[in-house]
Amino acid sequence: MKVLKFGGTSIGSPERLKKLIKLIGRNETKLVVLSAMAGTTNALIEINSNLAINKRVEAHQQIADLKSNYYRWIDELFDAVTIGKCRALIDYHFDVIYTLSNDLFTPIEEKIIVAQGELISTTLFHYYLEEINVKSVLLPALDFIKTDENNEPIIESIKQNLSPLLQTNTNEPVIYITQGFICRNAFGEVDNLQRGGSDYTASLIGAAIQAEEIQIWTDIDGMHNNDPRIIDNTQPIARLSFEEAAELAYFGAKILHPQSIFPAQKYNIPVRILNTLAPQLSGTLISKIGDTSVFGVKAIAAKDNITAIRIQSSRMLLAYGFLRRVFEVFERYKTPIDMITTSEVAISLTIDNTHYLNEILEDLGDFGTVHVDTNQSIICVVGTFELDSVGYAAKILDGINHLPIRMISYGGSNHNISLLVDSKDKKEALQSLHNHLF
Ligand code: ASP
Ligand code: MG
Repeated sequence: MKVLKFGGTSIGSPERLKKLIKLIGRNETKLVVLSAMAGTTNALIEINSNLAINKRVEAHQQIADLKSNYYRWIDELFDAVTIGKCRALIDYHFDVIYTLSNDLFTPIEEKIIVAQGELISTTLFHYYLEEINVKSVLLPALDFIKTDENNEPIIESIKQNLSPLLQTNTNEPVIYITQGFICRNAFGEVDNLQRGGSDYTASLIGAAIQAEEIQIWTDIDGMHNNDPRIIDNTQPIARLSFEEAAELAYFGAKILHPQSIFPAQKYNIPVRILNTLAPQLSGTLISKIGDTSVFGVKAIAAKDNITAIRIQSSRMLLAYGFLRRVFEVFERYKTPIDMITTSEVAISLTIDNTHYLNEILEDLGDFGTVHVDTNQSIICVVGTFELDSVGYAAKILDGINHLPIRMISYGGSNHNISLLVDSKDKKEALQSLHNHLF
């Protein structure tokens, strides 16, 4: 079975929701993962932000506005026969939101509110398929997408809980529909897989059911070799390996949730990125082998809002245990480190979560002199660079030999060479590397 995921913009209007069935097809059993309709999750998050600071009047107005958008959408989407049922659905979910908005507001209420977007979009699509006589079954993601104490999804549990739901007693093709993004955590509470998490849901399900393929339908014709929002004439990449795609998803290429490659990779399920607006294009195929015909650099991406920290200490010279003590500071404040470079007497590293920056800097002060640079960007060159081959690093550095480079990371994996530059130089770095490498 194939697993197909459609994002918010692919179902952003009644018109587009209607077109999905053409893309899905009616002749094969498939599992479809849907996000909330475009704008809904943002709106629900805004409602939550207002509730968190006790701005109930504003929140109630936003709830009413969103609800009336849905009323309009269902009027456009459905026949008179189905409209009553759809209104009841919208009323039910907005009653949930409204009731919670009057409760004591905690992260529990917040997550239930944000989950309503996917619960609504999937049920509406199910009703639509019923209306046009396509057999569909709605699967409640909250019954099978589970996470553990570390908020890690448990693929084994997804498999155990989902498999029985996929048994039908007909030979007729069935469209299974489920919610992306939402899950139940280790305490049994409604939770989610973070923004953009529907990709991750599709990959987890694909892995759990050993799908034939995972298709991520979006608004662009695949992963591009540079950031299309910044650089003109970027090209879609026909094939990538799991490792290359994971680096790209993590470092900036916004089209995939950063963790979404790992389940597919672990269970070796190919992932195809396709364009809802141009379904005839072949998009990007991500698989174990990737593209062995093109060697070397495949793509460039950038990640912004990076903070670089340098700790300099003569005590580091010939000392052991120094790095461990430095890393422990970051562990204490649950702050992931992205890039690291070291010399005998100094260490530079980057973080993107600066929530505990002041506390971290204070603790690092015990080790030596600490220096911070904010507004940095990681420029990540992704591809396959065998460590016994020559010339890649030189060629990449040559491509930005007119710009100051704050850090260089090479050799951490065979698939990524990262450079840290000041964000004001990012555009020039991306453009210049693009001209030099492609
Ligand atoms: N609806 C969620 C979001 O906007 C999940 C997703 O779209 O993948 O982040
Ligand atoms: Mg997305």
